[in-house]
Amino acid sequence: MPPINFKLKPIGIQSYLRIFRGIIMAWETVIGLEIHSQLNTKSKIFSGASTEFGAKPNTQACAVDLGLPGVLPVLNKEAVHMALRFGLAVNAKINQHSIFERKNYFYPDLPKGYQISQFEIPIVGKGAIDISTKEGGTKMVGITRAHLEEDAGKSIHDLYEDYSAIDLNRAGTPLLEIVSEPDMRSAKEAVAYAKKIHALVQYIGICDGNMQEGSFRCDANVSIRKKDTEELGTRTELKNINSFKFLEKAINIEIERQQDILEDGGNVVQETRLYDAVKDETRSMRTKEEANDYKYFPDPDLLPVDIENELLTEIKNSLPELPTEKKNRFVSEFGLSDYDAENLTAQKSLADYYEAMLNDGADAKVSANWVMGELSASLNKNQIDIQDSPISAKELSELVKRINDDTISGKIAKGVFKDMWEGNGRVDDIIQNQGLKQMTDVGAIEGIIDGIIANNSEQVEQFKAGNTKLLGYFVGQVMKATQGKANPKQVNQILNEKLS
Ligand code: ADP
Ligand code: MG
Repeated sequence: MPPINFKLKPIGIQSYLRIFRGIIMAWETVIGLEIHSQLNTKSKIFSGASTEFGAKPNTQACAVDLGLPGVLPVLNKEAVHMALRFGLAVNAKINQHSIFERKNYFYPDLPKGYQISQFEIPIVGKGAIDISTKEGGTKMVGITRAHLEEDAGKSIHDLYEDYSAIDLNRAGTPLLEIVSEPDMRSAKEAVAYAKKIHALVQYIGICDGNMQEGSFRCDANVSIRKKDTEELGTRTELKNINSFKFLEKAINIEIERQQDILEDGGNVVQETRLYDAVKDETRSMRTKEEANDYKYFPDPDLLPVDIENELLTEIKNSLPELPTEKKNRFVSEFGLSDYDAENLTAQKSLADYYEAMLNDGADAKVSANWVMGELSASLNKNQIDIQDSPISAKELSELVKRINDDTISGKIAKGVFKDMWEGNGRVDDIIQNQGLKQMTDVGAIEGIIDGIIANNSEQVEQFKAGNTKLLGYFVGQVMKATQGKANPKQVNQILNEKLS
């Protein structure tokens, strides 16, 4: 018997143990999200100051926002209506009596020394929303609550060398904080949920959804536990996440970090961690021991909010078609797959564009492929919003029609699309000017195919001997000979006839 030559790679026994334990201990991830959605009211939640983004620093904070003595906050009715729109859209229990409380803490960008928020009784109670899972099904995610609060100002640390700057323009901007149940089980599900809420707040017109400008901010609470256990593990809260891509990354990094700790016999510390997109890591901001004790108490300057039934009915009736309703309609009315319908309705403007194409008479499935394919790719690449697309829905619909009526092939259409994108005219002119019209003259195509068969006797023999994959080779030859203008369907049909 030959000697057994078995050596561990020098990565340390610890790492081997971790891998081994990782396999036998199946971990389950638990995630809950807190989403701050900036309500797009014209003025602040408790004052008449403007909420416009990008103004000169400290030009939009009034005495109320600054918390100067002798002023009183007055609740913005519009912000309340927006919170109710959200609550009704997620079928939540509306608390028709709610109150505002003071959340006390010290920070330089919080001149009042407290933030007005809701704690004991939020305006929106328990609700739920459905998300699409990667398995292709749907799953309900619980919404614990959604409450109204004011935003703080902004500290800017990189403007001056020796000082931090404070811009109070954002102080008092209305926010709806949407808190989910710990119902997500993977980073992907968390992203699906965040995207769904993102779509919803834009559909119902309460938030512009701009993540770069901070109008839509996600904090992720992450823990892990052994599969099939009830009890939740200790969680950490991840902050400073400003895109869906980073949300997924931050959660996955955190899951791995927690697994490492637990598998090495340690304990996860409950803390807030900052996600650093440049270093692609999370690091500790503050632990539970350092956490503030906010000493919430009802704000004596503000009356309770009492909502009448009539108002709820009125708001309910004013809600537009919601993402899930639209998605279901796209499936039933246009025969789209769940996946396509989900993607097309993820953004209202995208769904509107798509529907405009269908209203113009374009085929549903081919249009869906073009909107999610070439169009979305080009918009993403050039960072253009669909509202500013250089190709209008009507123009793209014309292109789709030319594919469906066999004027051009899908492949040629890609070139036409490029020309349209660059502003070189309308579909029919481009097809005409460049002579791209598909060959439909059967006799002419047959002539070309006969020539190709005569010149490729070896391949013909192989094909007849059973190598049917060679059909692609022949199609390629025909396309080459016709500069891609032969109708692929016809070519396949004629080739099959002639070769068998
Ligand atoms: P806090 O206000 O201190 O952040 P909450 O109890 O309101 O705490 O929870 C905030 C978020 O954390 C919610 O979205 C909730 O679902 C989520 N969460 C709570 N416990 C866990 C846990 N063990 N693992 C993951 N998420 C959790
Ligand atoms: Mg929190």
